[in-house]
Amino acid sequence: MNAIDIHVHHPWTDPQERPDYEIGRTKALARQSGIDMVLLLTGGGGVSPEELRHRNDCTLRLIEEDAAFFLGAMYLSPNHDPAFIREEASRCAEAGMVAVKQGTELNARDERIGPIAEAAADLDIPILFHAWHKTVEKFAEESDGSDIAHLARRHPGTRFIMAHLTGVGRRGVQDVEDLPNVWVDTCGGWYAAEMVEYAVRHMGAERVLYGSDYPGRDYAAQIGRVLGANVPEEDRQNILWRNAAALLKLDSQLP
Ligand SMILES: [Zn+2]
Repeated sequence: MNAIDIHVHHPWTDPQERPDYEIGRTKALARQSGIDMVLLLTGGGGVSPEELRHRNDCTLRLIEEDAAFFLGAMYLSPNHDPAFIREEASRCAEAGMVAVKQGTELNARDERIGPIAEAAADLDIPILFHAWHKTVEKFAEESDGSDIAHLARRHPGTRFIMAHLTGVGRRGVQDVEDLPNVWVDTCGGWYAAEMVEYAVRHMGAERVLYGSDYPGRDYAAQIGRVLGANVPEEDRQNILWRNAAALLKLDSQLP
């Protein structure tokens, strides 16, 4: 095993509706950068329960292209009825999805996220939550590190992946460093010098996960953050795949 990419997007819709999107390309380019498995993320902010189910089904169909390579994260909407959230979470988990994605639909401090956090804890799967620290052009409900920390404190039995190390910056790392139920992924915009080293020092290498944010960012450039980081080889292997394998419980699936 070389690497598991915890943060890869697909276009959210049916492959037939997006003839320009090639799932094969998502895989071939990852392979070229030494990546053995990727977690596919979808989005569903503001959609109906029917449309959300459709989007999660699209992810399931893409996984079927190569179930040994593609892993899936379901989207759950905090604006939906808690009974539907639970039902859809169970359905997706039974179909093999290993994580939940949250974007910028509601801020992490909003109590309506509660049923999603509880469903993830019950199913024992982590939530990968979009986070970014912005002073300008912030989305209305966008979460930063302090918002993720607030949510993680309210739900100590749920595991959270704070997305975008470079987006949340040193301040975001400081927000979550004392919370053992929060991990961080290494992606987010342009790389700033020694951010991976900073996260390892403050959170421990066991709580840092390699992620690319492909196709918004390039696999090769993003994995370079980890391959070139000044950390012990053992830590690098943890960041590249061991932590993700443990967090997503992939022991039986690893090649
Ligand atoms: Zn992303």
